[in-house]
Amino acid sequence: MTNQLNKLFEKSSLVDPFNRHITYLRLSVTDRCDLRCTYCMPEKMSFLNKKEVLTFEEMYKLCSGFIQLGIKKIRITGGEPLVRKGIMDFFEMLKPYLSSHLEELTLTTNGTQLHKYADQLYANGIRRINVSLDTLDPKKFKQITRIGNLQDVLFGIEAAKNANLKIKINFVALKNINDDEIDDFINWCIKKGFDLTFIETMPMGDIGNENRLSHFLSLNELKKDISSKFELEDISFSSGGPAKYSKIKGSNIKLGFITPLSHNFCSSCNRIRVDATGVLHQCLGQSNNLDFRKILRDPDSTETDLIENIRKSIKQKPEKHSFSYDFSNEHIEGKMDRHMSLTGG
Ligand code: SAM
Ligand code: SF4
Repeated sequence: MTNQLNKLFEKSSLVDPFNRHITYLRLSVTDRCDLRCTYCMPEKMSFLNKKEVLTFEEMYKLCSGFIQLGIKKIRITGGEPLVRKGIMDFFEMLKPYLSSHLEELTLTTNGTQLHKYADQLYANGIRRINVSLDTLDPKKFKQITRIGNLQDVLFGIEAAKNANLKIKINFVALKNINDDEIDDFINWCIKKGFDLTFIETMPMGDIGNENRLSHFLSLNELKKDISSKFELEDISFSSGGPAKYSKIKGSNIKLGFITPLSHNFCSSCNRIRVDATGVLHQCLGQSNNLDFRKILRDPDSTETDLIENIRKSIKQKPEKHSFSYDFSNEHIEGKMDRHMSLTGG
């Protein structure tokens, strides 16, 4: 970025038509994954051709533009970000921003590769990570992920803990699959000192023969159930995201509840997502988007074009998502064709 542009954009920030300040970018670096979670993708998932995916240089250019305009936090996600070759080099490229405009660089991972990368993540400035884990039962882990081994993830989590990374666990609540182990799971998190966020399944992408509706578990119900066993205290803590947080009295951990279906959280949305192909999605649950790959790969396109298009994309952010489940008619409203593994969770 030239000094002139730097000066021009230092003061500006990204504000959408609903007066929400957009400070958080989630970037999916790959749609590929070494697991096949049943609620996320079909068993025989077809992945993108590599040419369709942005190079790290292109992703860096895009991130730089966003950072100049006021993005303070970047979460790297996927697919499984740690299976993309060269991912540590990409973190290293972004690291210098942590000593200037960027407040946090972080990661969402399934944890299978963490044992290899935990130390390097810390060395590259990452301090907190989200690890997705929906069960502590090896058989259920295989059932949910189809091809994974629980032990790999548990090793990874230990490695991350030893590397001083703060860990938050993401747990997708699934009726008749993992709802019978919630208490044990919470106790495990208390023992380990991990914050825990529960997530409702969202209708994103085809998942083959699986039926999301039959495993949908309302977190309102789940929270009631948890409250009957643990002493919960609602707290005002906000990560700027959609989760509402509670504390379990007598413990140091926070419980988060992300309830896109049973409660619309959009009014405080501060984020945008860029998928692995460079398409910016203004909302996870709407189809508004802007294709930055076209701009990044156009030889006539300038830095100013990039910046103008970032501004334009924020002006197009819709007010809210349109997901909803109609249980009486077994119907899902607002289903999105794209998978969460493309856009990043
Ligand atoms: N592979 C990494 C992982 O699993 O953490 C990062 C990408 S994954 C798409 C990000 C998050 O999205 C995970 O916590 C996962 O459980 C969640 N997820 C995937 N598909 C979902 C769906 N249809 N509804 C709700 N959450 C979903
Ligand atoms: Fe892979 Fe994450 Fe989707 Fe599971 S949720 S299949 S780990 S991208």
